[in-house]
Amino acid sequence: MVTKNFRDNFAKIAPYVSGEQPKMDGLIKLNSNENPYPPSPKVKKAAATIESAKLSLYPSSDAEELIDKLADYHGLKTENVFVGNGSDEVLGLAFRAFFNSELPIAYPDITYSFYPVWCEFFKIPFVTFALDDSFRINADDYIAPNGGVVITNPNAPTSIGERTDFIRKILDNNRDVVVIVDEAYVDFGGSSSIELIQEYDNLLVVHTFSKSRSLAGIRVGACFGNSELIAVMNTVKNSFNSYPVDTIAQKLAIASLDDESYFSDIVHEIITTRENTVKALEQLGFHTLESSTNFIFTTHESIHAKEIFVHLREDKILVRYFNKPRIGNYLRITIGTAAQMDALIESLERLI
Ligand SMILES: *Cc1c(COP(=O)(O)O)cnc(C)c1O
Repeated sequence: MVTKNFRDNFAKIAPYVSGEQPKMDGLIKLNSNENPYPPSPKVKKAAATIESAKLSLYPSSDAEELIDKLADYHGLKTENVFVGNGSDEVLGLAFRAFFNSELPIAYPDITYSFYPVWCEFFKIPFVTFALDDSFRINADDYIAPNGGVVITNPNAPTSIGERTDFIRKILDNNRDVVVIVDEAYVDFGGSSSIELIQEYDNLLVVHTFSKSRSLAGIRVGACFGNSELIAVMNTVKNSFNSYPVDTIAQKLAIASLDDESYFSDIVHEIITTRENTVKALEQLGFHTLESSTNFIFTTHESIHAKEIFVHLREDKILVRYFNKPRIGNYLRITIGTAAQMDALIESLERLI
């Protein structure tokens, strides 16, 4: 009987599927939106000075030093900052903490595909609203009563960023529920809503160290919001795992925040490479959505995305193909180094 119960509960859940991580020599990996550059040399230095003896102790459970650093970095108070084991964990805890209404939460039909997984997992009702024909989110869709809103800005996998006025409109029309803005890609040309947390006590902004800071391997994410929201996040965290961010991750995340010039150099390098790639693709007959992220979303005028995906894979270049309605003829391509993108263009020239 017990066995049957848990089968019924979990059989329905389709877990999140991340970009594949194959072990293949000479692979050019443009499928998981990872950063092609290493983290700051300061991170390397900090890693070399880790005292292994200290690892016998639990980490700081309130990650005080990292939270101080993040508060300082964004001009906030520590009571406005929460950190977790990757932004996926922060988002998961936030869904659990804030989406408890009978009314469905609302998010776009095409967005980060982890949201429906958490809704199933935590049994949160949800509705999705279709992006318009140019793959933009329509802010008016989020005016009807709902149990909360989650918006990825810039959105994924479309890469399109919206200005803070757009987020403000959603906040103004949803004062009684929590609005989560997932800014995983904001550093690559998006507009952050962090400054709006002073004005809106219903706004939670989520960031990650995985993309722009080249630290996907250490799993650090953060969120920013009104002190009351952050207190609830801490209650939920401390009811699940009091020590989510380990000693090594805390130390390396701090070292990354200490190197603003390296951070801005690699972000600019990626933006430049992105713009060059978009131009080269245009010459080959691709139409690419305007990107504010470290990836592009592109479609070819005559060759189907699936065929291009298969061709690239034969050339050991891995991109992301989604076999889904509306976006099935698009490819999501992470921006790598200039040399990696040259290899991509050369491979596409052979096909086209
Ligand atoms: C990558 C990504 C995340 C998760 O990042 P982690 O911090 O590595 O867990 C969250 N949201 C979006 C939209 C992402 O693309």
